[in-house]
Amino acid sequence: MTKELWGQVSDELRKTVGKTNHETWIAPLELVALKDGIGSFQAPTRFMCDWVSRNYGEPILSALRKTGAPVERVTFDLGAARKPAPAQAATATPTRKAARSTEDQDLPGAPLDARFTFDSFVVGKPNELAHAAARRVAEGGPVTFNPLFLYGGVGLGKTHLMHAIAHELQTGRPDLRVLYLSAEQFMYRFVQALRDRQIMDFKELFRSVDVLMVDDVQFIAGKDSTQEEFFHTFNALVDQGKQIVISADRAPGEIKDLEERIKSRLQCGLVVDLHPTDYELRLGILQSKSDAYRARYPGLAMADGVLEFLAHRITTNVRVLEGALTRLFAFASLVGREVTLDLAQECLADILRASDRRVTIEEIQRKVAEHYNVRLSDMIGPKRLRTIARPRQVAMYLAKHLTTRSLPEIGRRFGGRDHTTIIHGIRKIDELMATDRQLAEDIGLLKRLMES
Ligand code: ADP
Ligand code: MG
Repeated sequence: MTKELWGQVSDELRKTVGKTNHETWIAPLELVALKDGIGSFQAPTRFMCDWVSRNYGEPILSALRKTGAPVERVTFDLGAARKPAPAQAATATPTRKAARSTEDQDLPGAPLDARFTFDSFVVGKPNELAHAAARRVAEGGPVTFNPLFLYGGVGLGKTHLMHAIAHELQTGRPDLRVLYLSAEQFMYRFVQALRDRQIMDFKELFRSVDVLMVDDVQFIAGKDSTQEEFFHTFNALVDQGKQIVISADRAPGEIKDLEERIKSRLQCGLVVDLHPTDYELRLGILQSKSDAYRARYPGLAMADGVLEFLAHRITTNVRVLEGALTRLFAFASLVGREVTLDLAQECLADILRASDRRVTIEEIQRKVAEHYNVRLSDMIGPKRLRTIARPRQVAMYLAKHLTTRSLPEIGRRFGGRDHTTIIHGIRKIDELMATDRQLAEDIGLLKRLMES
């Protein structure tokens, strides 16, 4: 009875939360009881209970209520059947000690960047989940998902988060052996061990760690024997209940020339993507970096609006954004000038030109028309029908947010409309987005499509 009900509600939720979210967060839930106004769910991990309760509690409750079920509240608990066996944690310590006494050598990890800490990591919508998951791993508690797989475009903070985990574990759990290295270094060590006939040492070393972090794993795609070794190391550690964290520039399933069995193993844990930054996150990062910089150089003056300008104009990746800010500050202190918009434009001309938004209004109109299944000509044409006017307003809204075109210019590209019509359209969408989940999601999706 509860099973059927949940099946139906779960299907319904897929429409509102999207397919990927549904697979990750909703499908694994089990509705185990529905009584006294409480819907009790079980989830496979503690982390999942927290996350679902915070982020999907409301939608789940309202979807349940829509079916007429008498429910006031929903709860999420760890599923009894899949709770990790406590014995695992108890046996972990002796094994580790034994391993350590035979392993006096240093771990062959890569050096950690002291600046990459949780404190210096700015959290926003695009990286919220990755950050929460990394924090969880950094607690060094029982392994809840294995591996943690972080993926996303270049410069979005994957390496930063992995280093932050390592730093945090070093202070919070100094008893754990933490090994961080890039997939390239993994391969290099492996090849070296083969050459020096020390493969047993290599294996032993990698199997003796408590937390293994391998950065940029896409690198080993197509490198057969390295992949093979990686796979065995991976399995051995997972079997021992050791935590693994992996990063890549794309999702496991999308890494070409990676063995199927490795792909599927990588997908077994928590796969989280770092989305491209949004304006708020970029501004947050700039603010945090400029605060740090100005604490060191208190004499430096900065005019209002400079950070906003940079956050708006430099959208490629965080590394470029940081580089721009550093250059700007260095230049300003060198010539003893205030940091102003003019100065920014002068000293960052090349970066600004390179990151000039490539999205065109035509492209926006085309993508939006496709998405809503209306004709491209209707984007520009005069029809006032809601089913056409709304997508048109969405396109206006995106044109404003994704291009640097002025309102009159946007008006011209929308069939010569007046700029007040454009303002009206943008306001309308702003208003609707506050209450209309579907619309807000559509816009998020379209933005990501065009910004990537
Ligand atoms: P990736 O490994 O994903 O290519 P990195 O972790 O090397 O990216 O990040 C690139 C740069 O941007 C680093 O200097 C990092 O500190 C910075 N960075 C990225 N995301 C953030 C963030 N959310 N807060 C602060 N700094 C960030
Ligand atoms: Mg990196």
